[in-house]
Amino acid sequence: MDSARPLIVGNWKMFGLEPALEQARKVADSLALKPVRARVSLCVPATLIERMARVLNGSAVIVGGQDHHSEAEGPFTGDVSAEMLAEAGARQVILGHSERRGGHGESDELTSRKTEAALRAGLEPIVCVGETLAERREGRTLEVIALQAKTSLPDDLKGHAFALAYEPVWSIGTGLTPTLAQIEEAHGALRHALAERLGESGLRSPILYGGSVRPENAAEILHGREVGGASLKAEDFLAIIRAAE
Ligand code: PEP
Repeated sequence: MDSARPLIVGNWKMFGLEPALEQARKVADSLALKPVRARVSLCVPATLIERMARVLNGSAVIVGGQDHHSEAEGPFTGDVSAEMLAEAGARQVILGHSERRGGHGESDELTSRKTEAALRAGLEPIVCVGETLAERREGRTLEVIALQAKTSLPDDLKGHAFALAYEPVWSIGTGLTPTLAQIEEAHGALRHALAERLGESGLRSPILYGGSVRPENAAEILHGREVGGASLKAEDFLAIIRAAE
């Protein structure tokens, strides 16, 4: 498990056709010329994974997916399994993103089953948790994210590489970010929850921050990052990656 290095994840969401591969190529070329300490990954739509894996072959950039079904195969029209993403060339996968939890009604329990499936297929899961604005206003942030983390992470994670991403729902795509103190407080609560849930493995796994990370604020955010919109342009994603150095 390479958890000593920060992890910076680009989440392309439902963006990206053939021309977008050029952005990934630029990121890889830049990191080849001037390497960084962080691990860097691009989690892209399922349709791009195979081509992205070819473009990034031999580079420092890891290819990931953004979601998968909990079963290996079956009558689930429109879904893809963890095994299918792995076969296409993915090595990581984002699970439990608020756009899955909110937009598709995915629960902590389902996220936990999907995380088990990722491990079964040899993928490194990046599991997301985060409070809504209403929950923050009610003073329930720490309680909500600790419970999400404990319920979304299966026992099987012990001894496996995985990451937890703290992504406040109200900060995703809005330009709003928590203060550094709020991020630190949330990360502290999540570290505690991880240690309680998974013992030693929970102490070592990276905890990322995600939500409106941009080149302008990346240097302030000292943790690993999950970057949505700003990861679609090589120049912005590289500025965010280099801000971690
Ligand atoms: C995300 O959706 O994972 C994310 C961090 O989004 P954005 O950076 O666009 O707010």
